[in-house]
Amino acid sequence: MIVMKFGGTSTQDAAAIANVVKIVKSRLSMRPMVVVSAIAQATNVLERAGKLASENKSDSALNILQQLSDRHVGIINNMIEDSQRRDVLINIIEISFNELRDLVKGVSILRELTPRTLDSFYCYGELLSSRIVAAALQEANIDSWWIDTKDFMITDENFTRAMPMIEYVEDRLKAIVKPLFENNIVPVTQGFIGVTTAGRRTTMGRESSDYSASVVGCALNADDIQIWTDVDGVLTADPTVVPEPKKIKLLSFEEAFDLSYFGAKVLHPNTMLPAIEKNIPIHIYNSQKPTLSGTLVAKQTDAKDTIPKSVAYKRNVLILNIVPKKRYGQYIFWEHVNNVLTKHDVASHMTATSEYNYSVVLDAKDNISAIVHDLNTIGTVSVIEGKGIVCLVGSNLRQSPGLLDKIFHSIIDVGVEMITFGPSKSNISFIVEDNDVLDVVRRIHNNFFSVVKDDDIFEILEHHHTPE
Ligand code: ASP
Ligand code: MG
Repeated sequence: MIVMKFGGTSTQDAAAIANVVKIVKSRLSMRPMVVVSAIAQATNVLERAGKLASENKSDSALNILQQLSDRHVGIINNMIEDSQRRDVLINIIEISFNELRDLVKGVSILRELTPRTLDSFYCYGELLSSRIVAAALQEANIDSWWIDTKDFMITDENFTRAMPMIEYVEDRLKAIVKPLFENNIVPVTQGFIGVTTAGRRTTMGRESSDYSASVVGCALNADDIQIWTDVDGVLTADPTVVPEPKKIKLLSFEEAFDLSYFGAKVLHPNTMLPAIEKNIPIHIYNSQKPTLSGTLVAKQTDAKDTIPKSVAYKRNVLILNIVPKKRYGQYIFWEHVNNVLTKHDVASHMTATSEYNYSVVLDAKDNISAIVHDLNTIGTVSVIEGKGIVCLVGSNLRQSPGLLDKIFHSIIDVGVEMITFGPSKSNISFIVEDNDVLDVVRRIHNNFFSVVKDDDIFEILEHHHTPE
């Protein structure tokens, strides 16, 4: 079987959903299970409604919810002709938005939006889009069955960033889909959302529907995990930044992980984790151009491969440099620092250490003042703001002779503040001024990817519009 995941732009309106139906139909012989995101922007609207309610702006919250409801109803009226099927869906929409209005009321009384409550808002986006897609398949005479993730996607209780408990997921999901596949029925379910063992809805982090698809694929030993999105695949750089990026045909799991972790938006980084474990290939396809070959993420077989594949970046980070006040043993000092980061629930994007110095790179939006406050008890902390990370990704880069020279030669006039090269075999990352990030990305891209020779790996994009 295969898993087919469709993102928000692939379900944004009736025409997009009709296209999804067409794509699923063309792959019925591969026995698909369909995973869908909320329709475009729905998750943002739900989040906004929750926040507005907590700020005592219930009217605005109800207003944007009404618009979201109208959008769903519009899609249904546009594409579901069978009146009984349509009535059922409209009824579900009505019930769901009544529940959302109750949530708004509750939150505005409490003036507090906890992660748990936010998840109660979020879940409606995927619950509704998946209902509509399941019904749209039926309209096209494809037998489909809507499955609520409540029945199988068991997660821990870390609301808004829950992790699935694969062993439970596997048993439950297998039991649910077995009779469906035996009868050639296409299961349709939600990305992004899960449920605790006590039955509370959870979500697994923004943009995590890709991850859901991978968890489903892993649980069912899929032959392929297909991520259907709105771009041609993974590119050699952000197409809004560089002129003429190339499409990458083939990436290893590690390369895809590093790229998505360092800012490429095509895939959620966690997507690779279950797939690596079971060695299931991931394809990224453009749902607007379903005949294109997309990008394949798979196990790296050719270990000699040292081709740089892509340059990614992350903006708005800062460096915390910590010097211990007392000369603790090195390990104790490191442990102190990491305990503070763990307490604040932040992860360092890059770390550099020397005997009695410890530097970590954090997002500027992390709770920096509280972190610095806690670190002050053990060390003297300096905060170096306004930085960005640039990261070149490619398997075995570490073994590539002359690589560092080639990278830094092209940015000789740019101040580089911190480098990590080594911990991951497939990336080199360094820190520059945030204002220089885009320029550095362009220069590195020009240096490494303006001419690409390897047709097995890269493909020239058609109709790319060069940025200004
Ligand atoms: N709908 C969710 C979000 O917008 C999950 C996803 O699209 O992957 O974050
Ligand atoms: Mg996405």
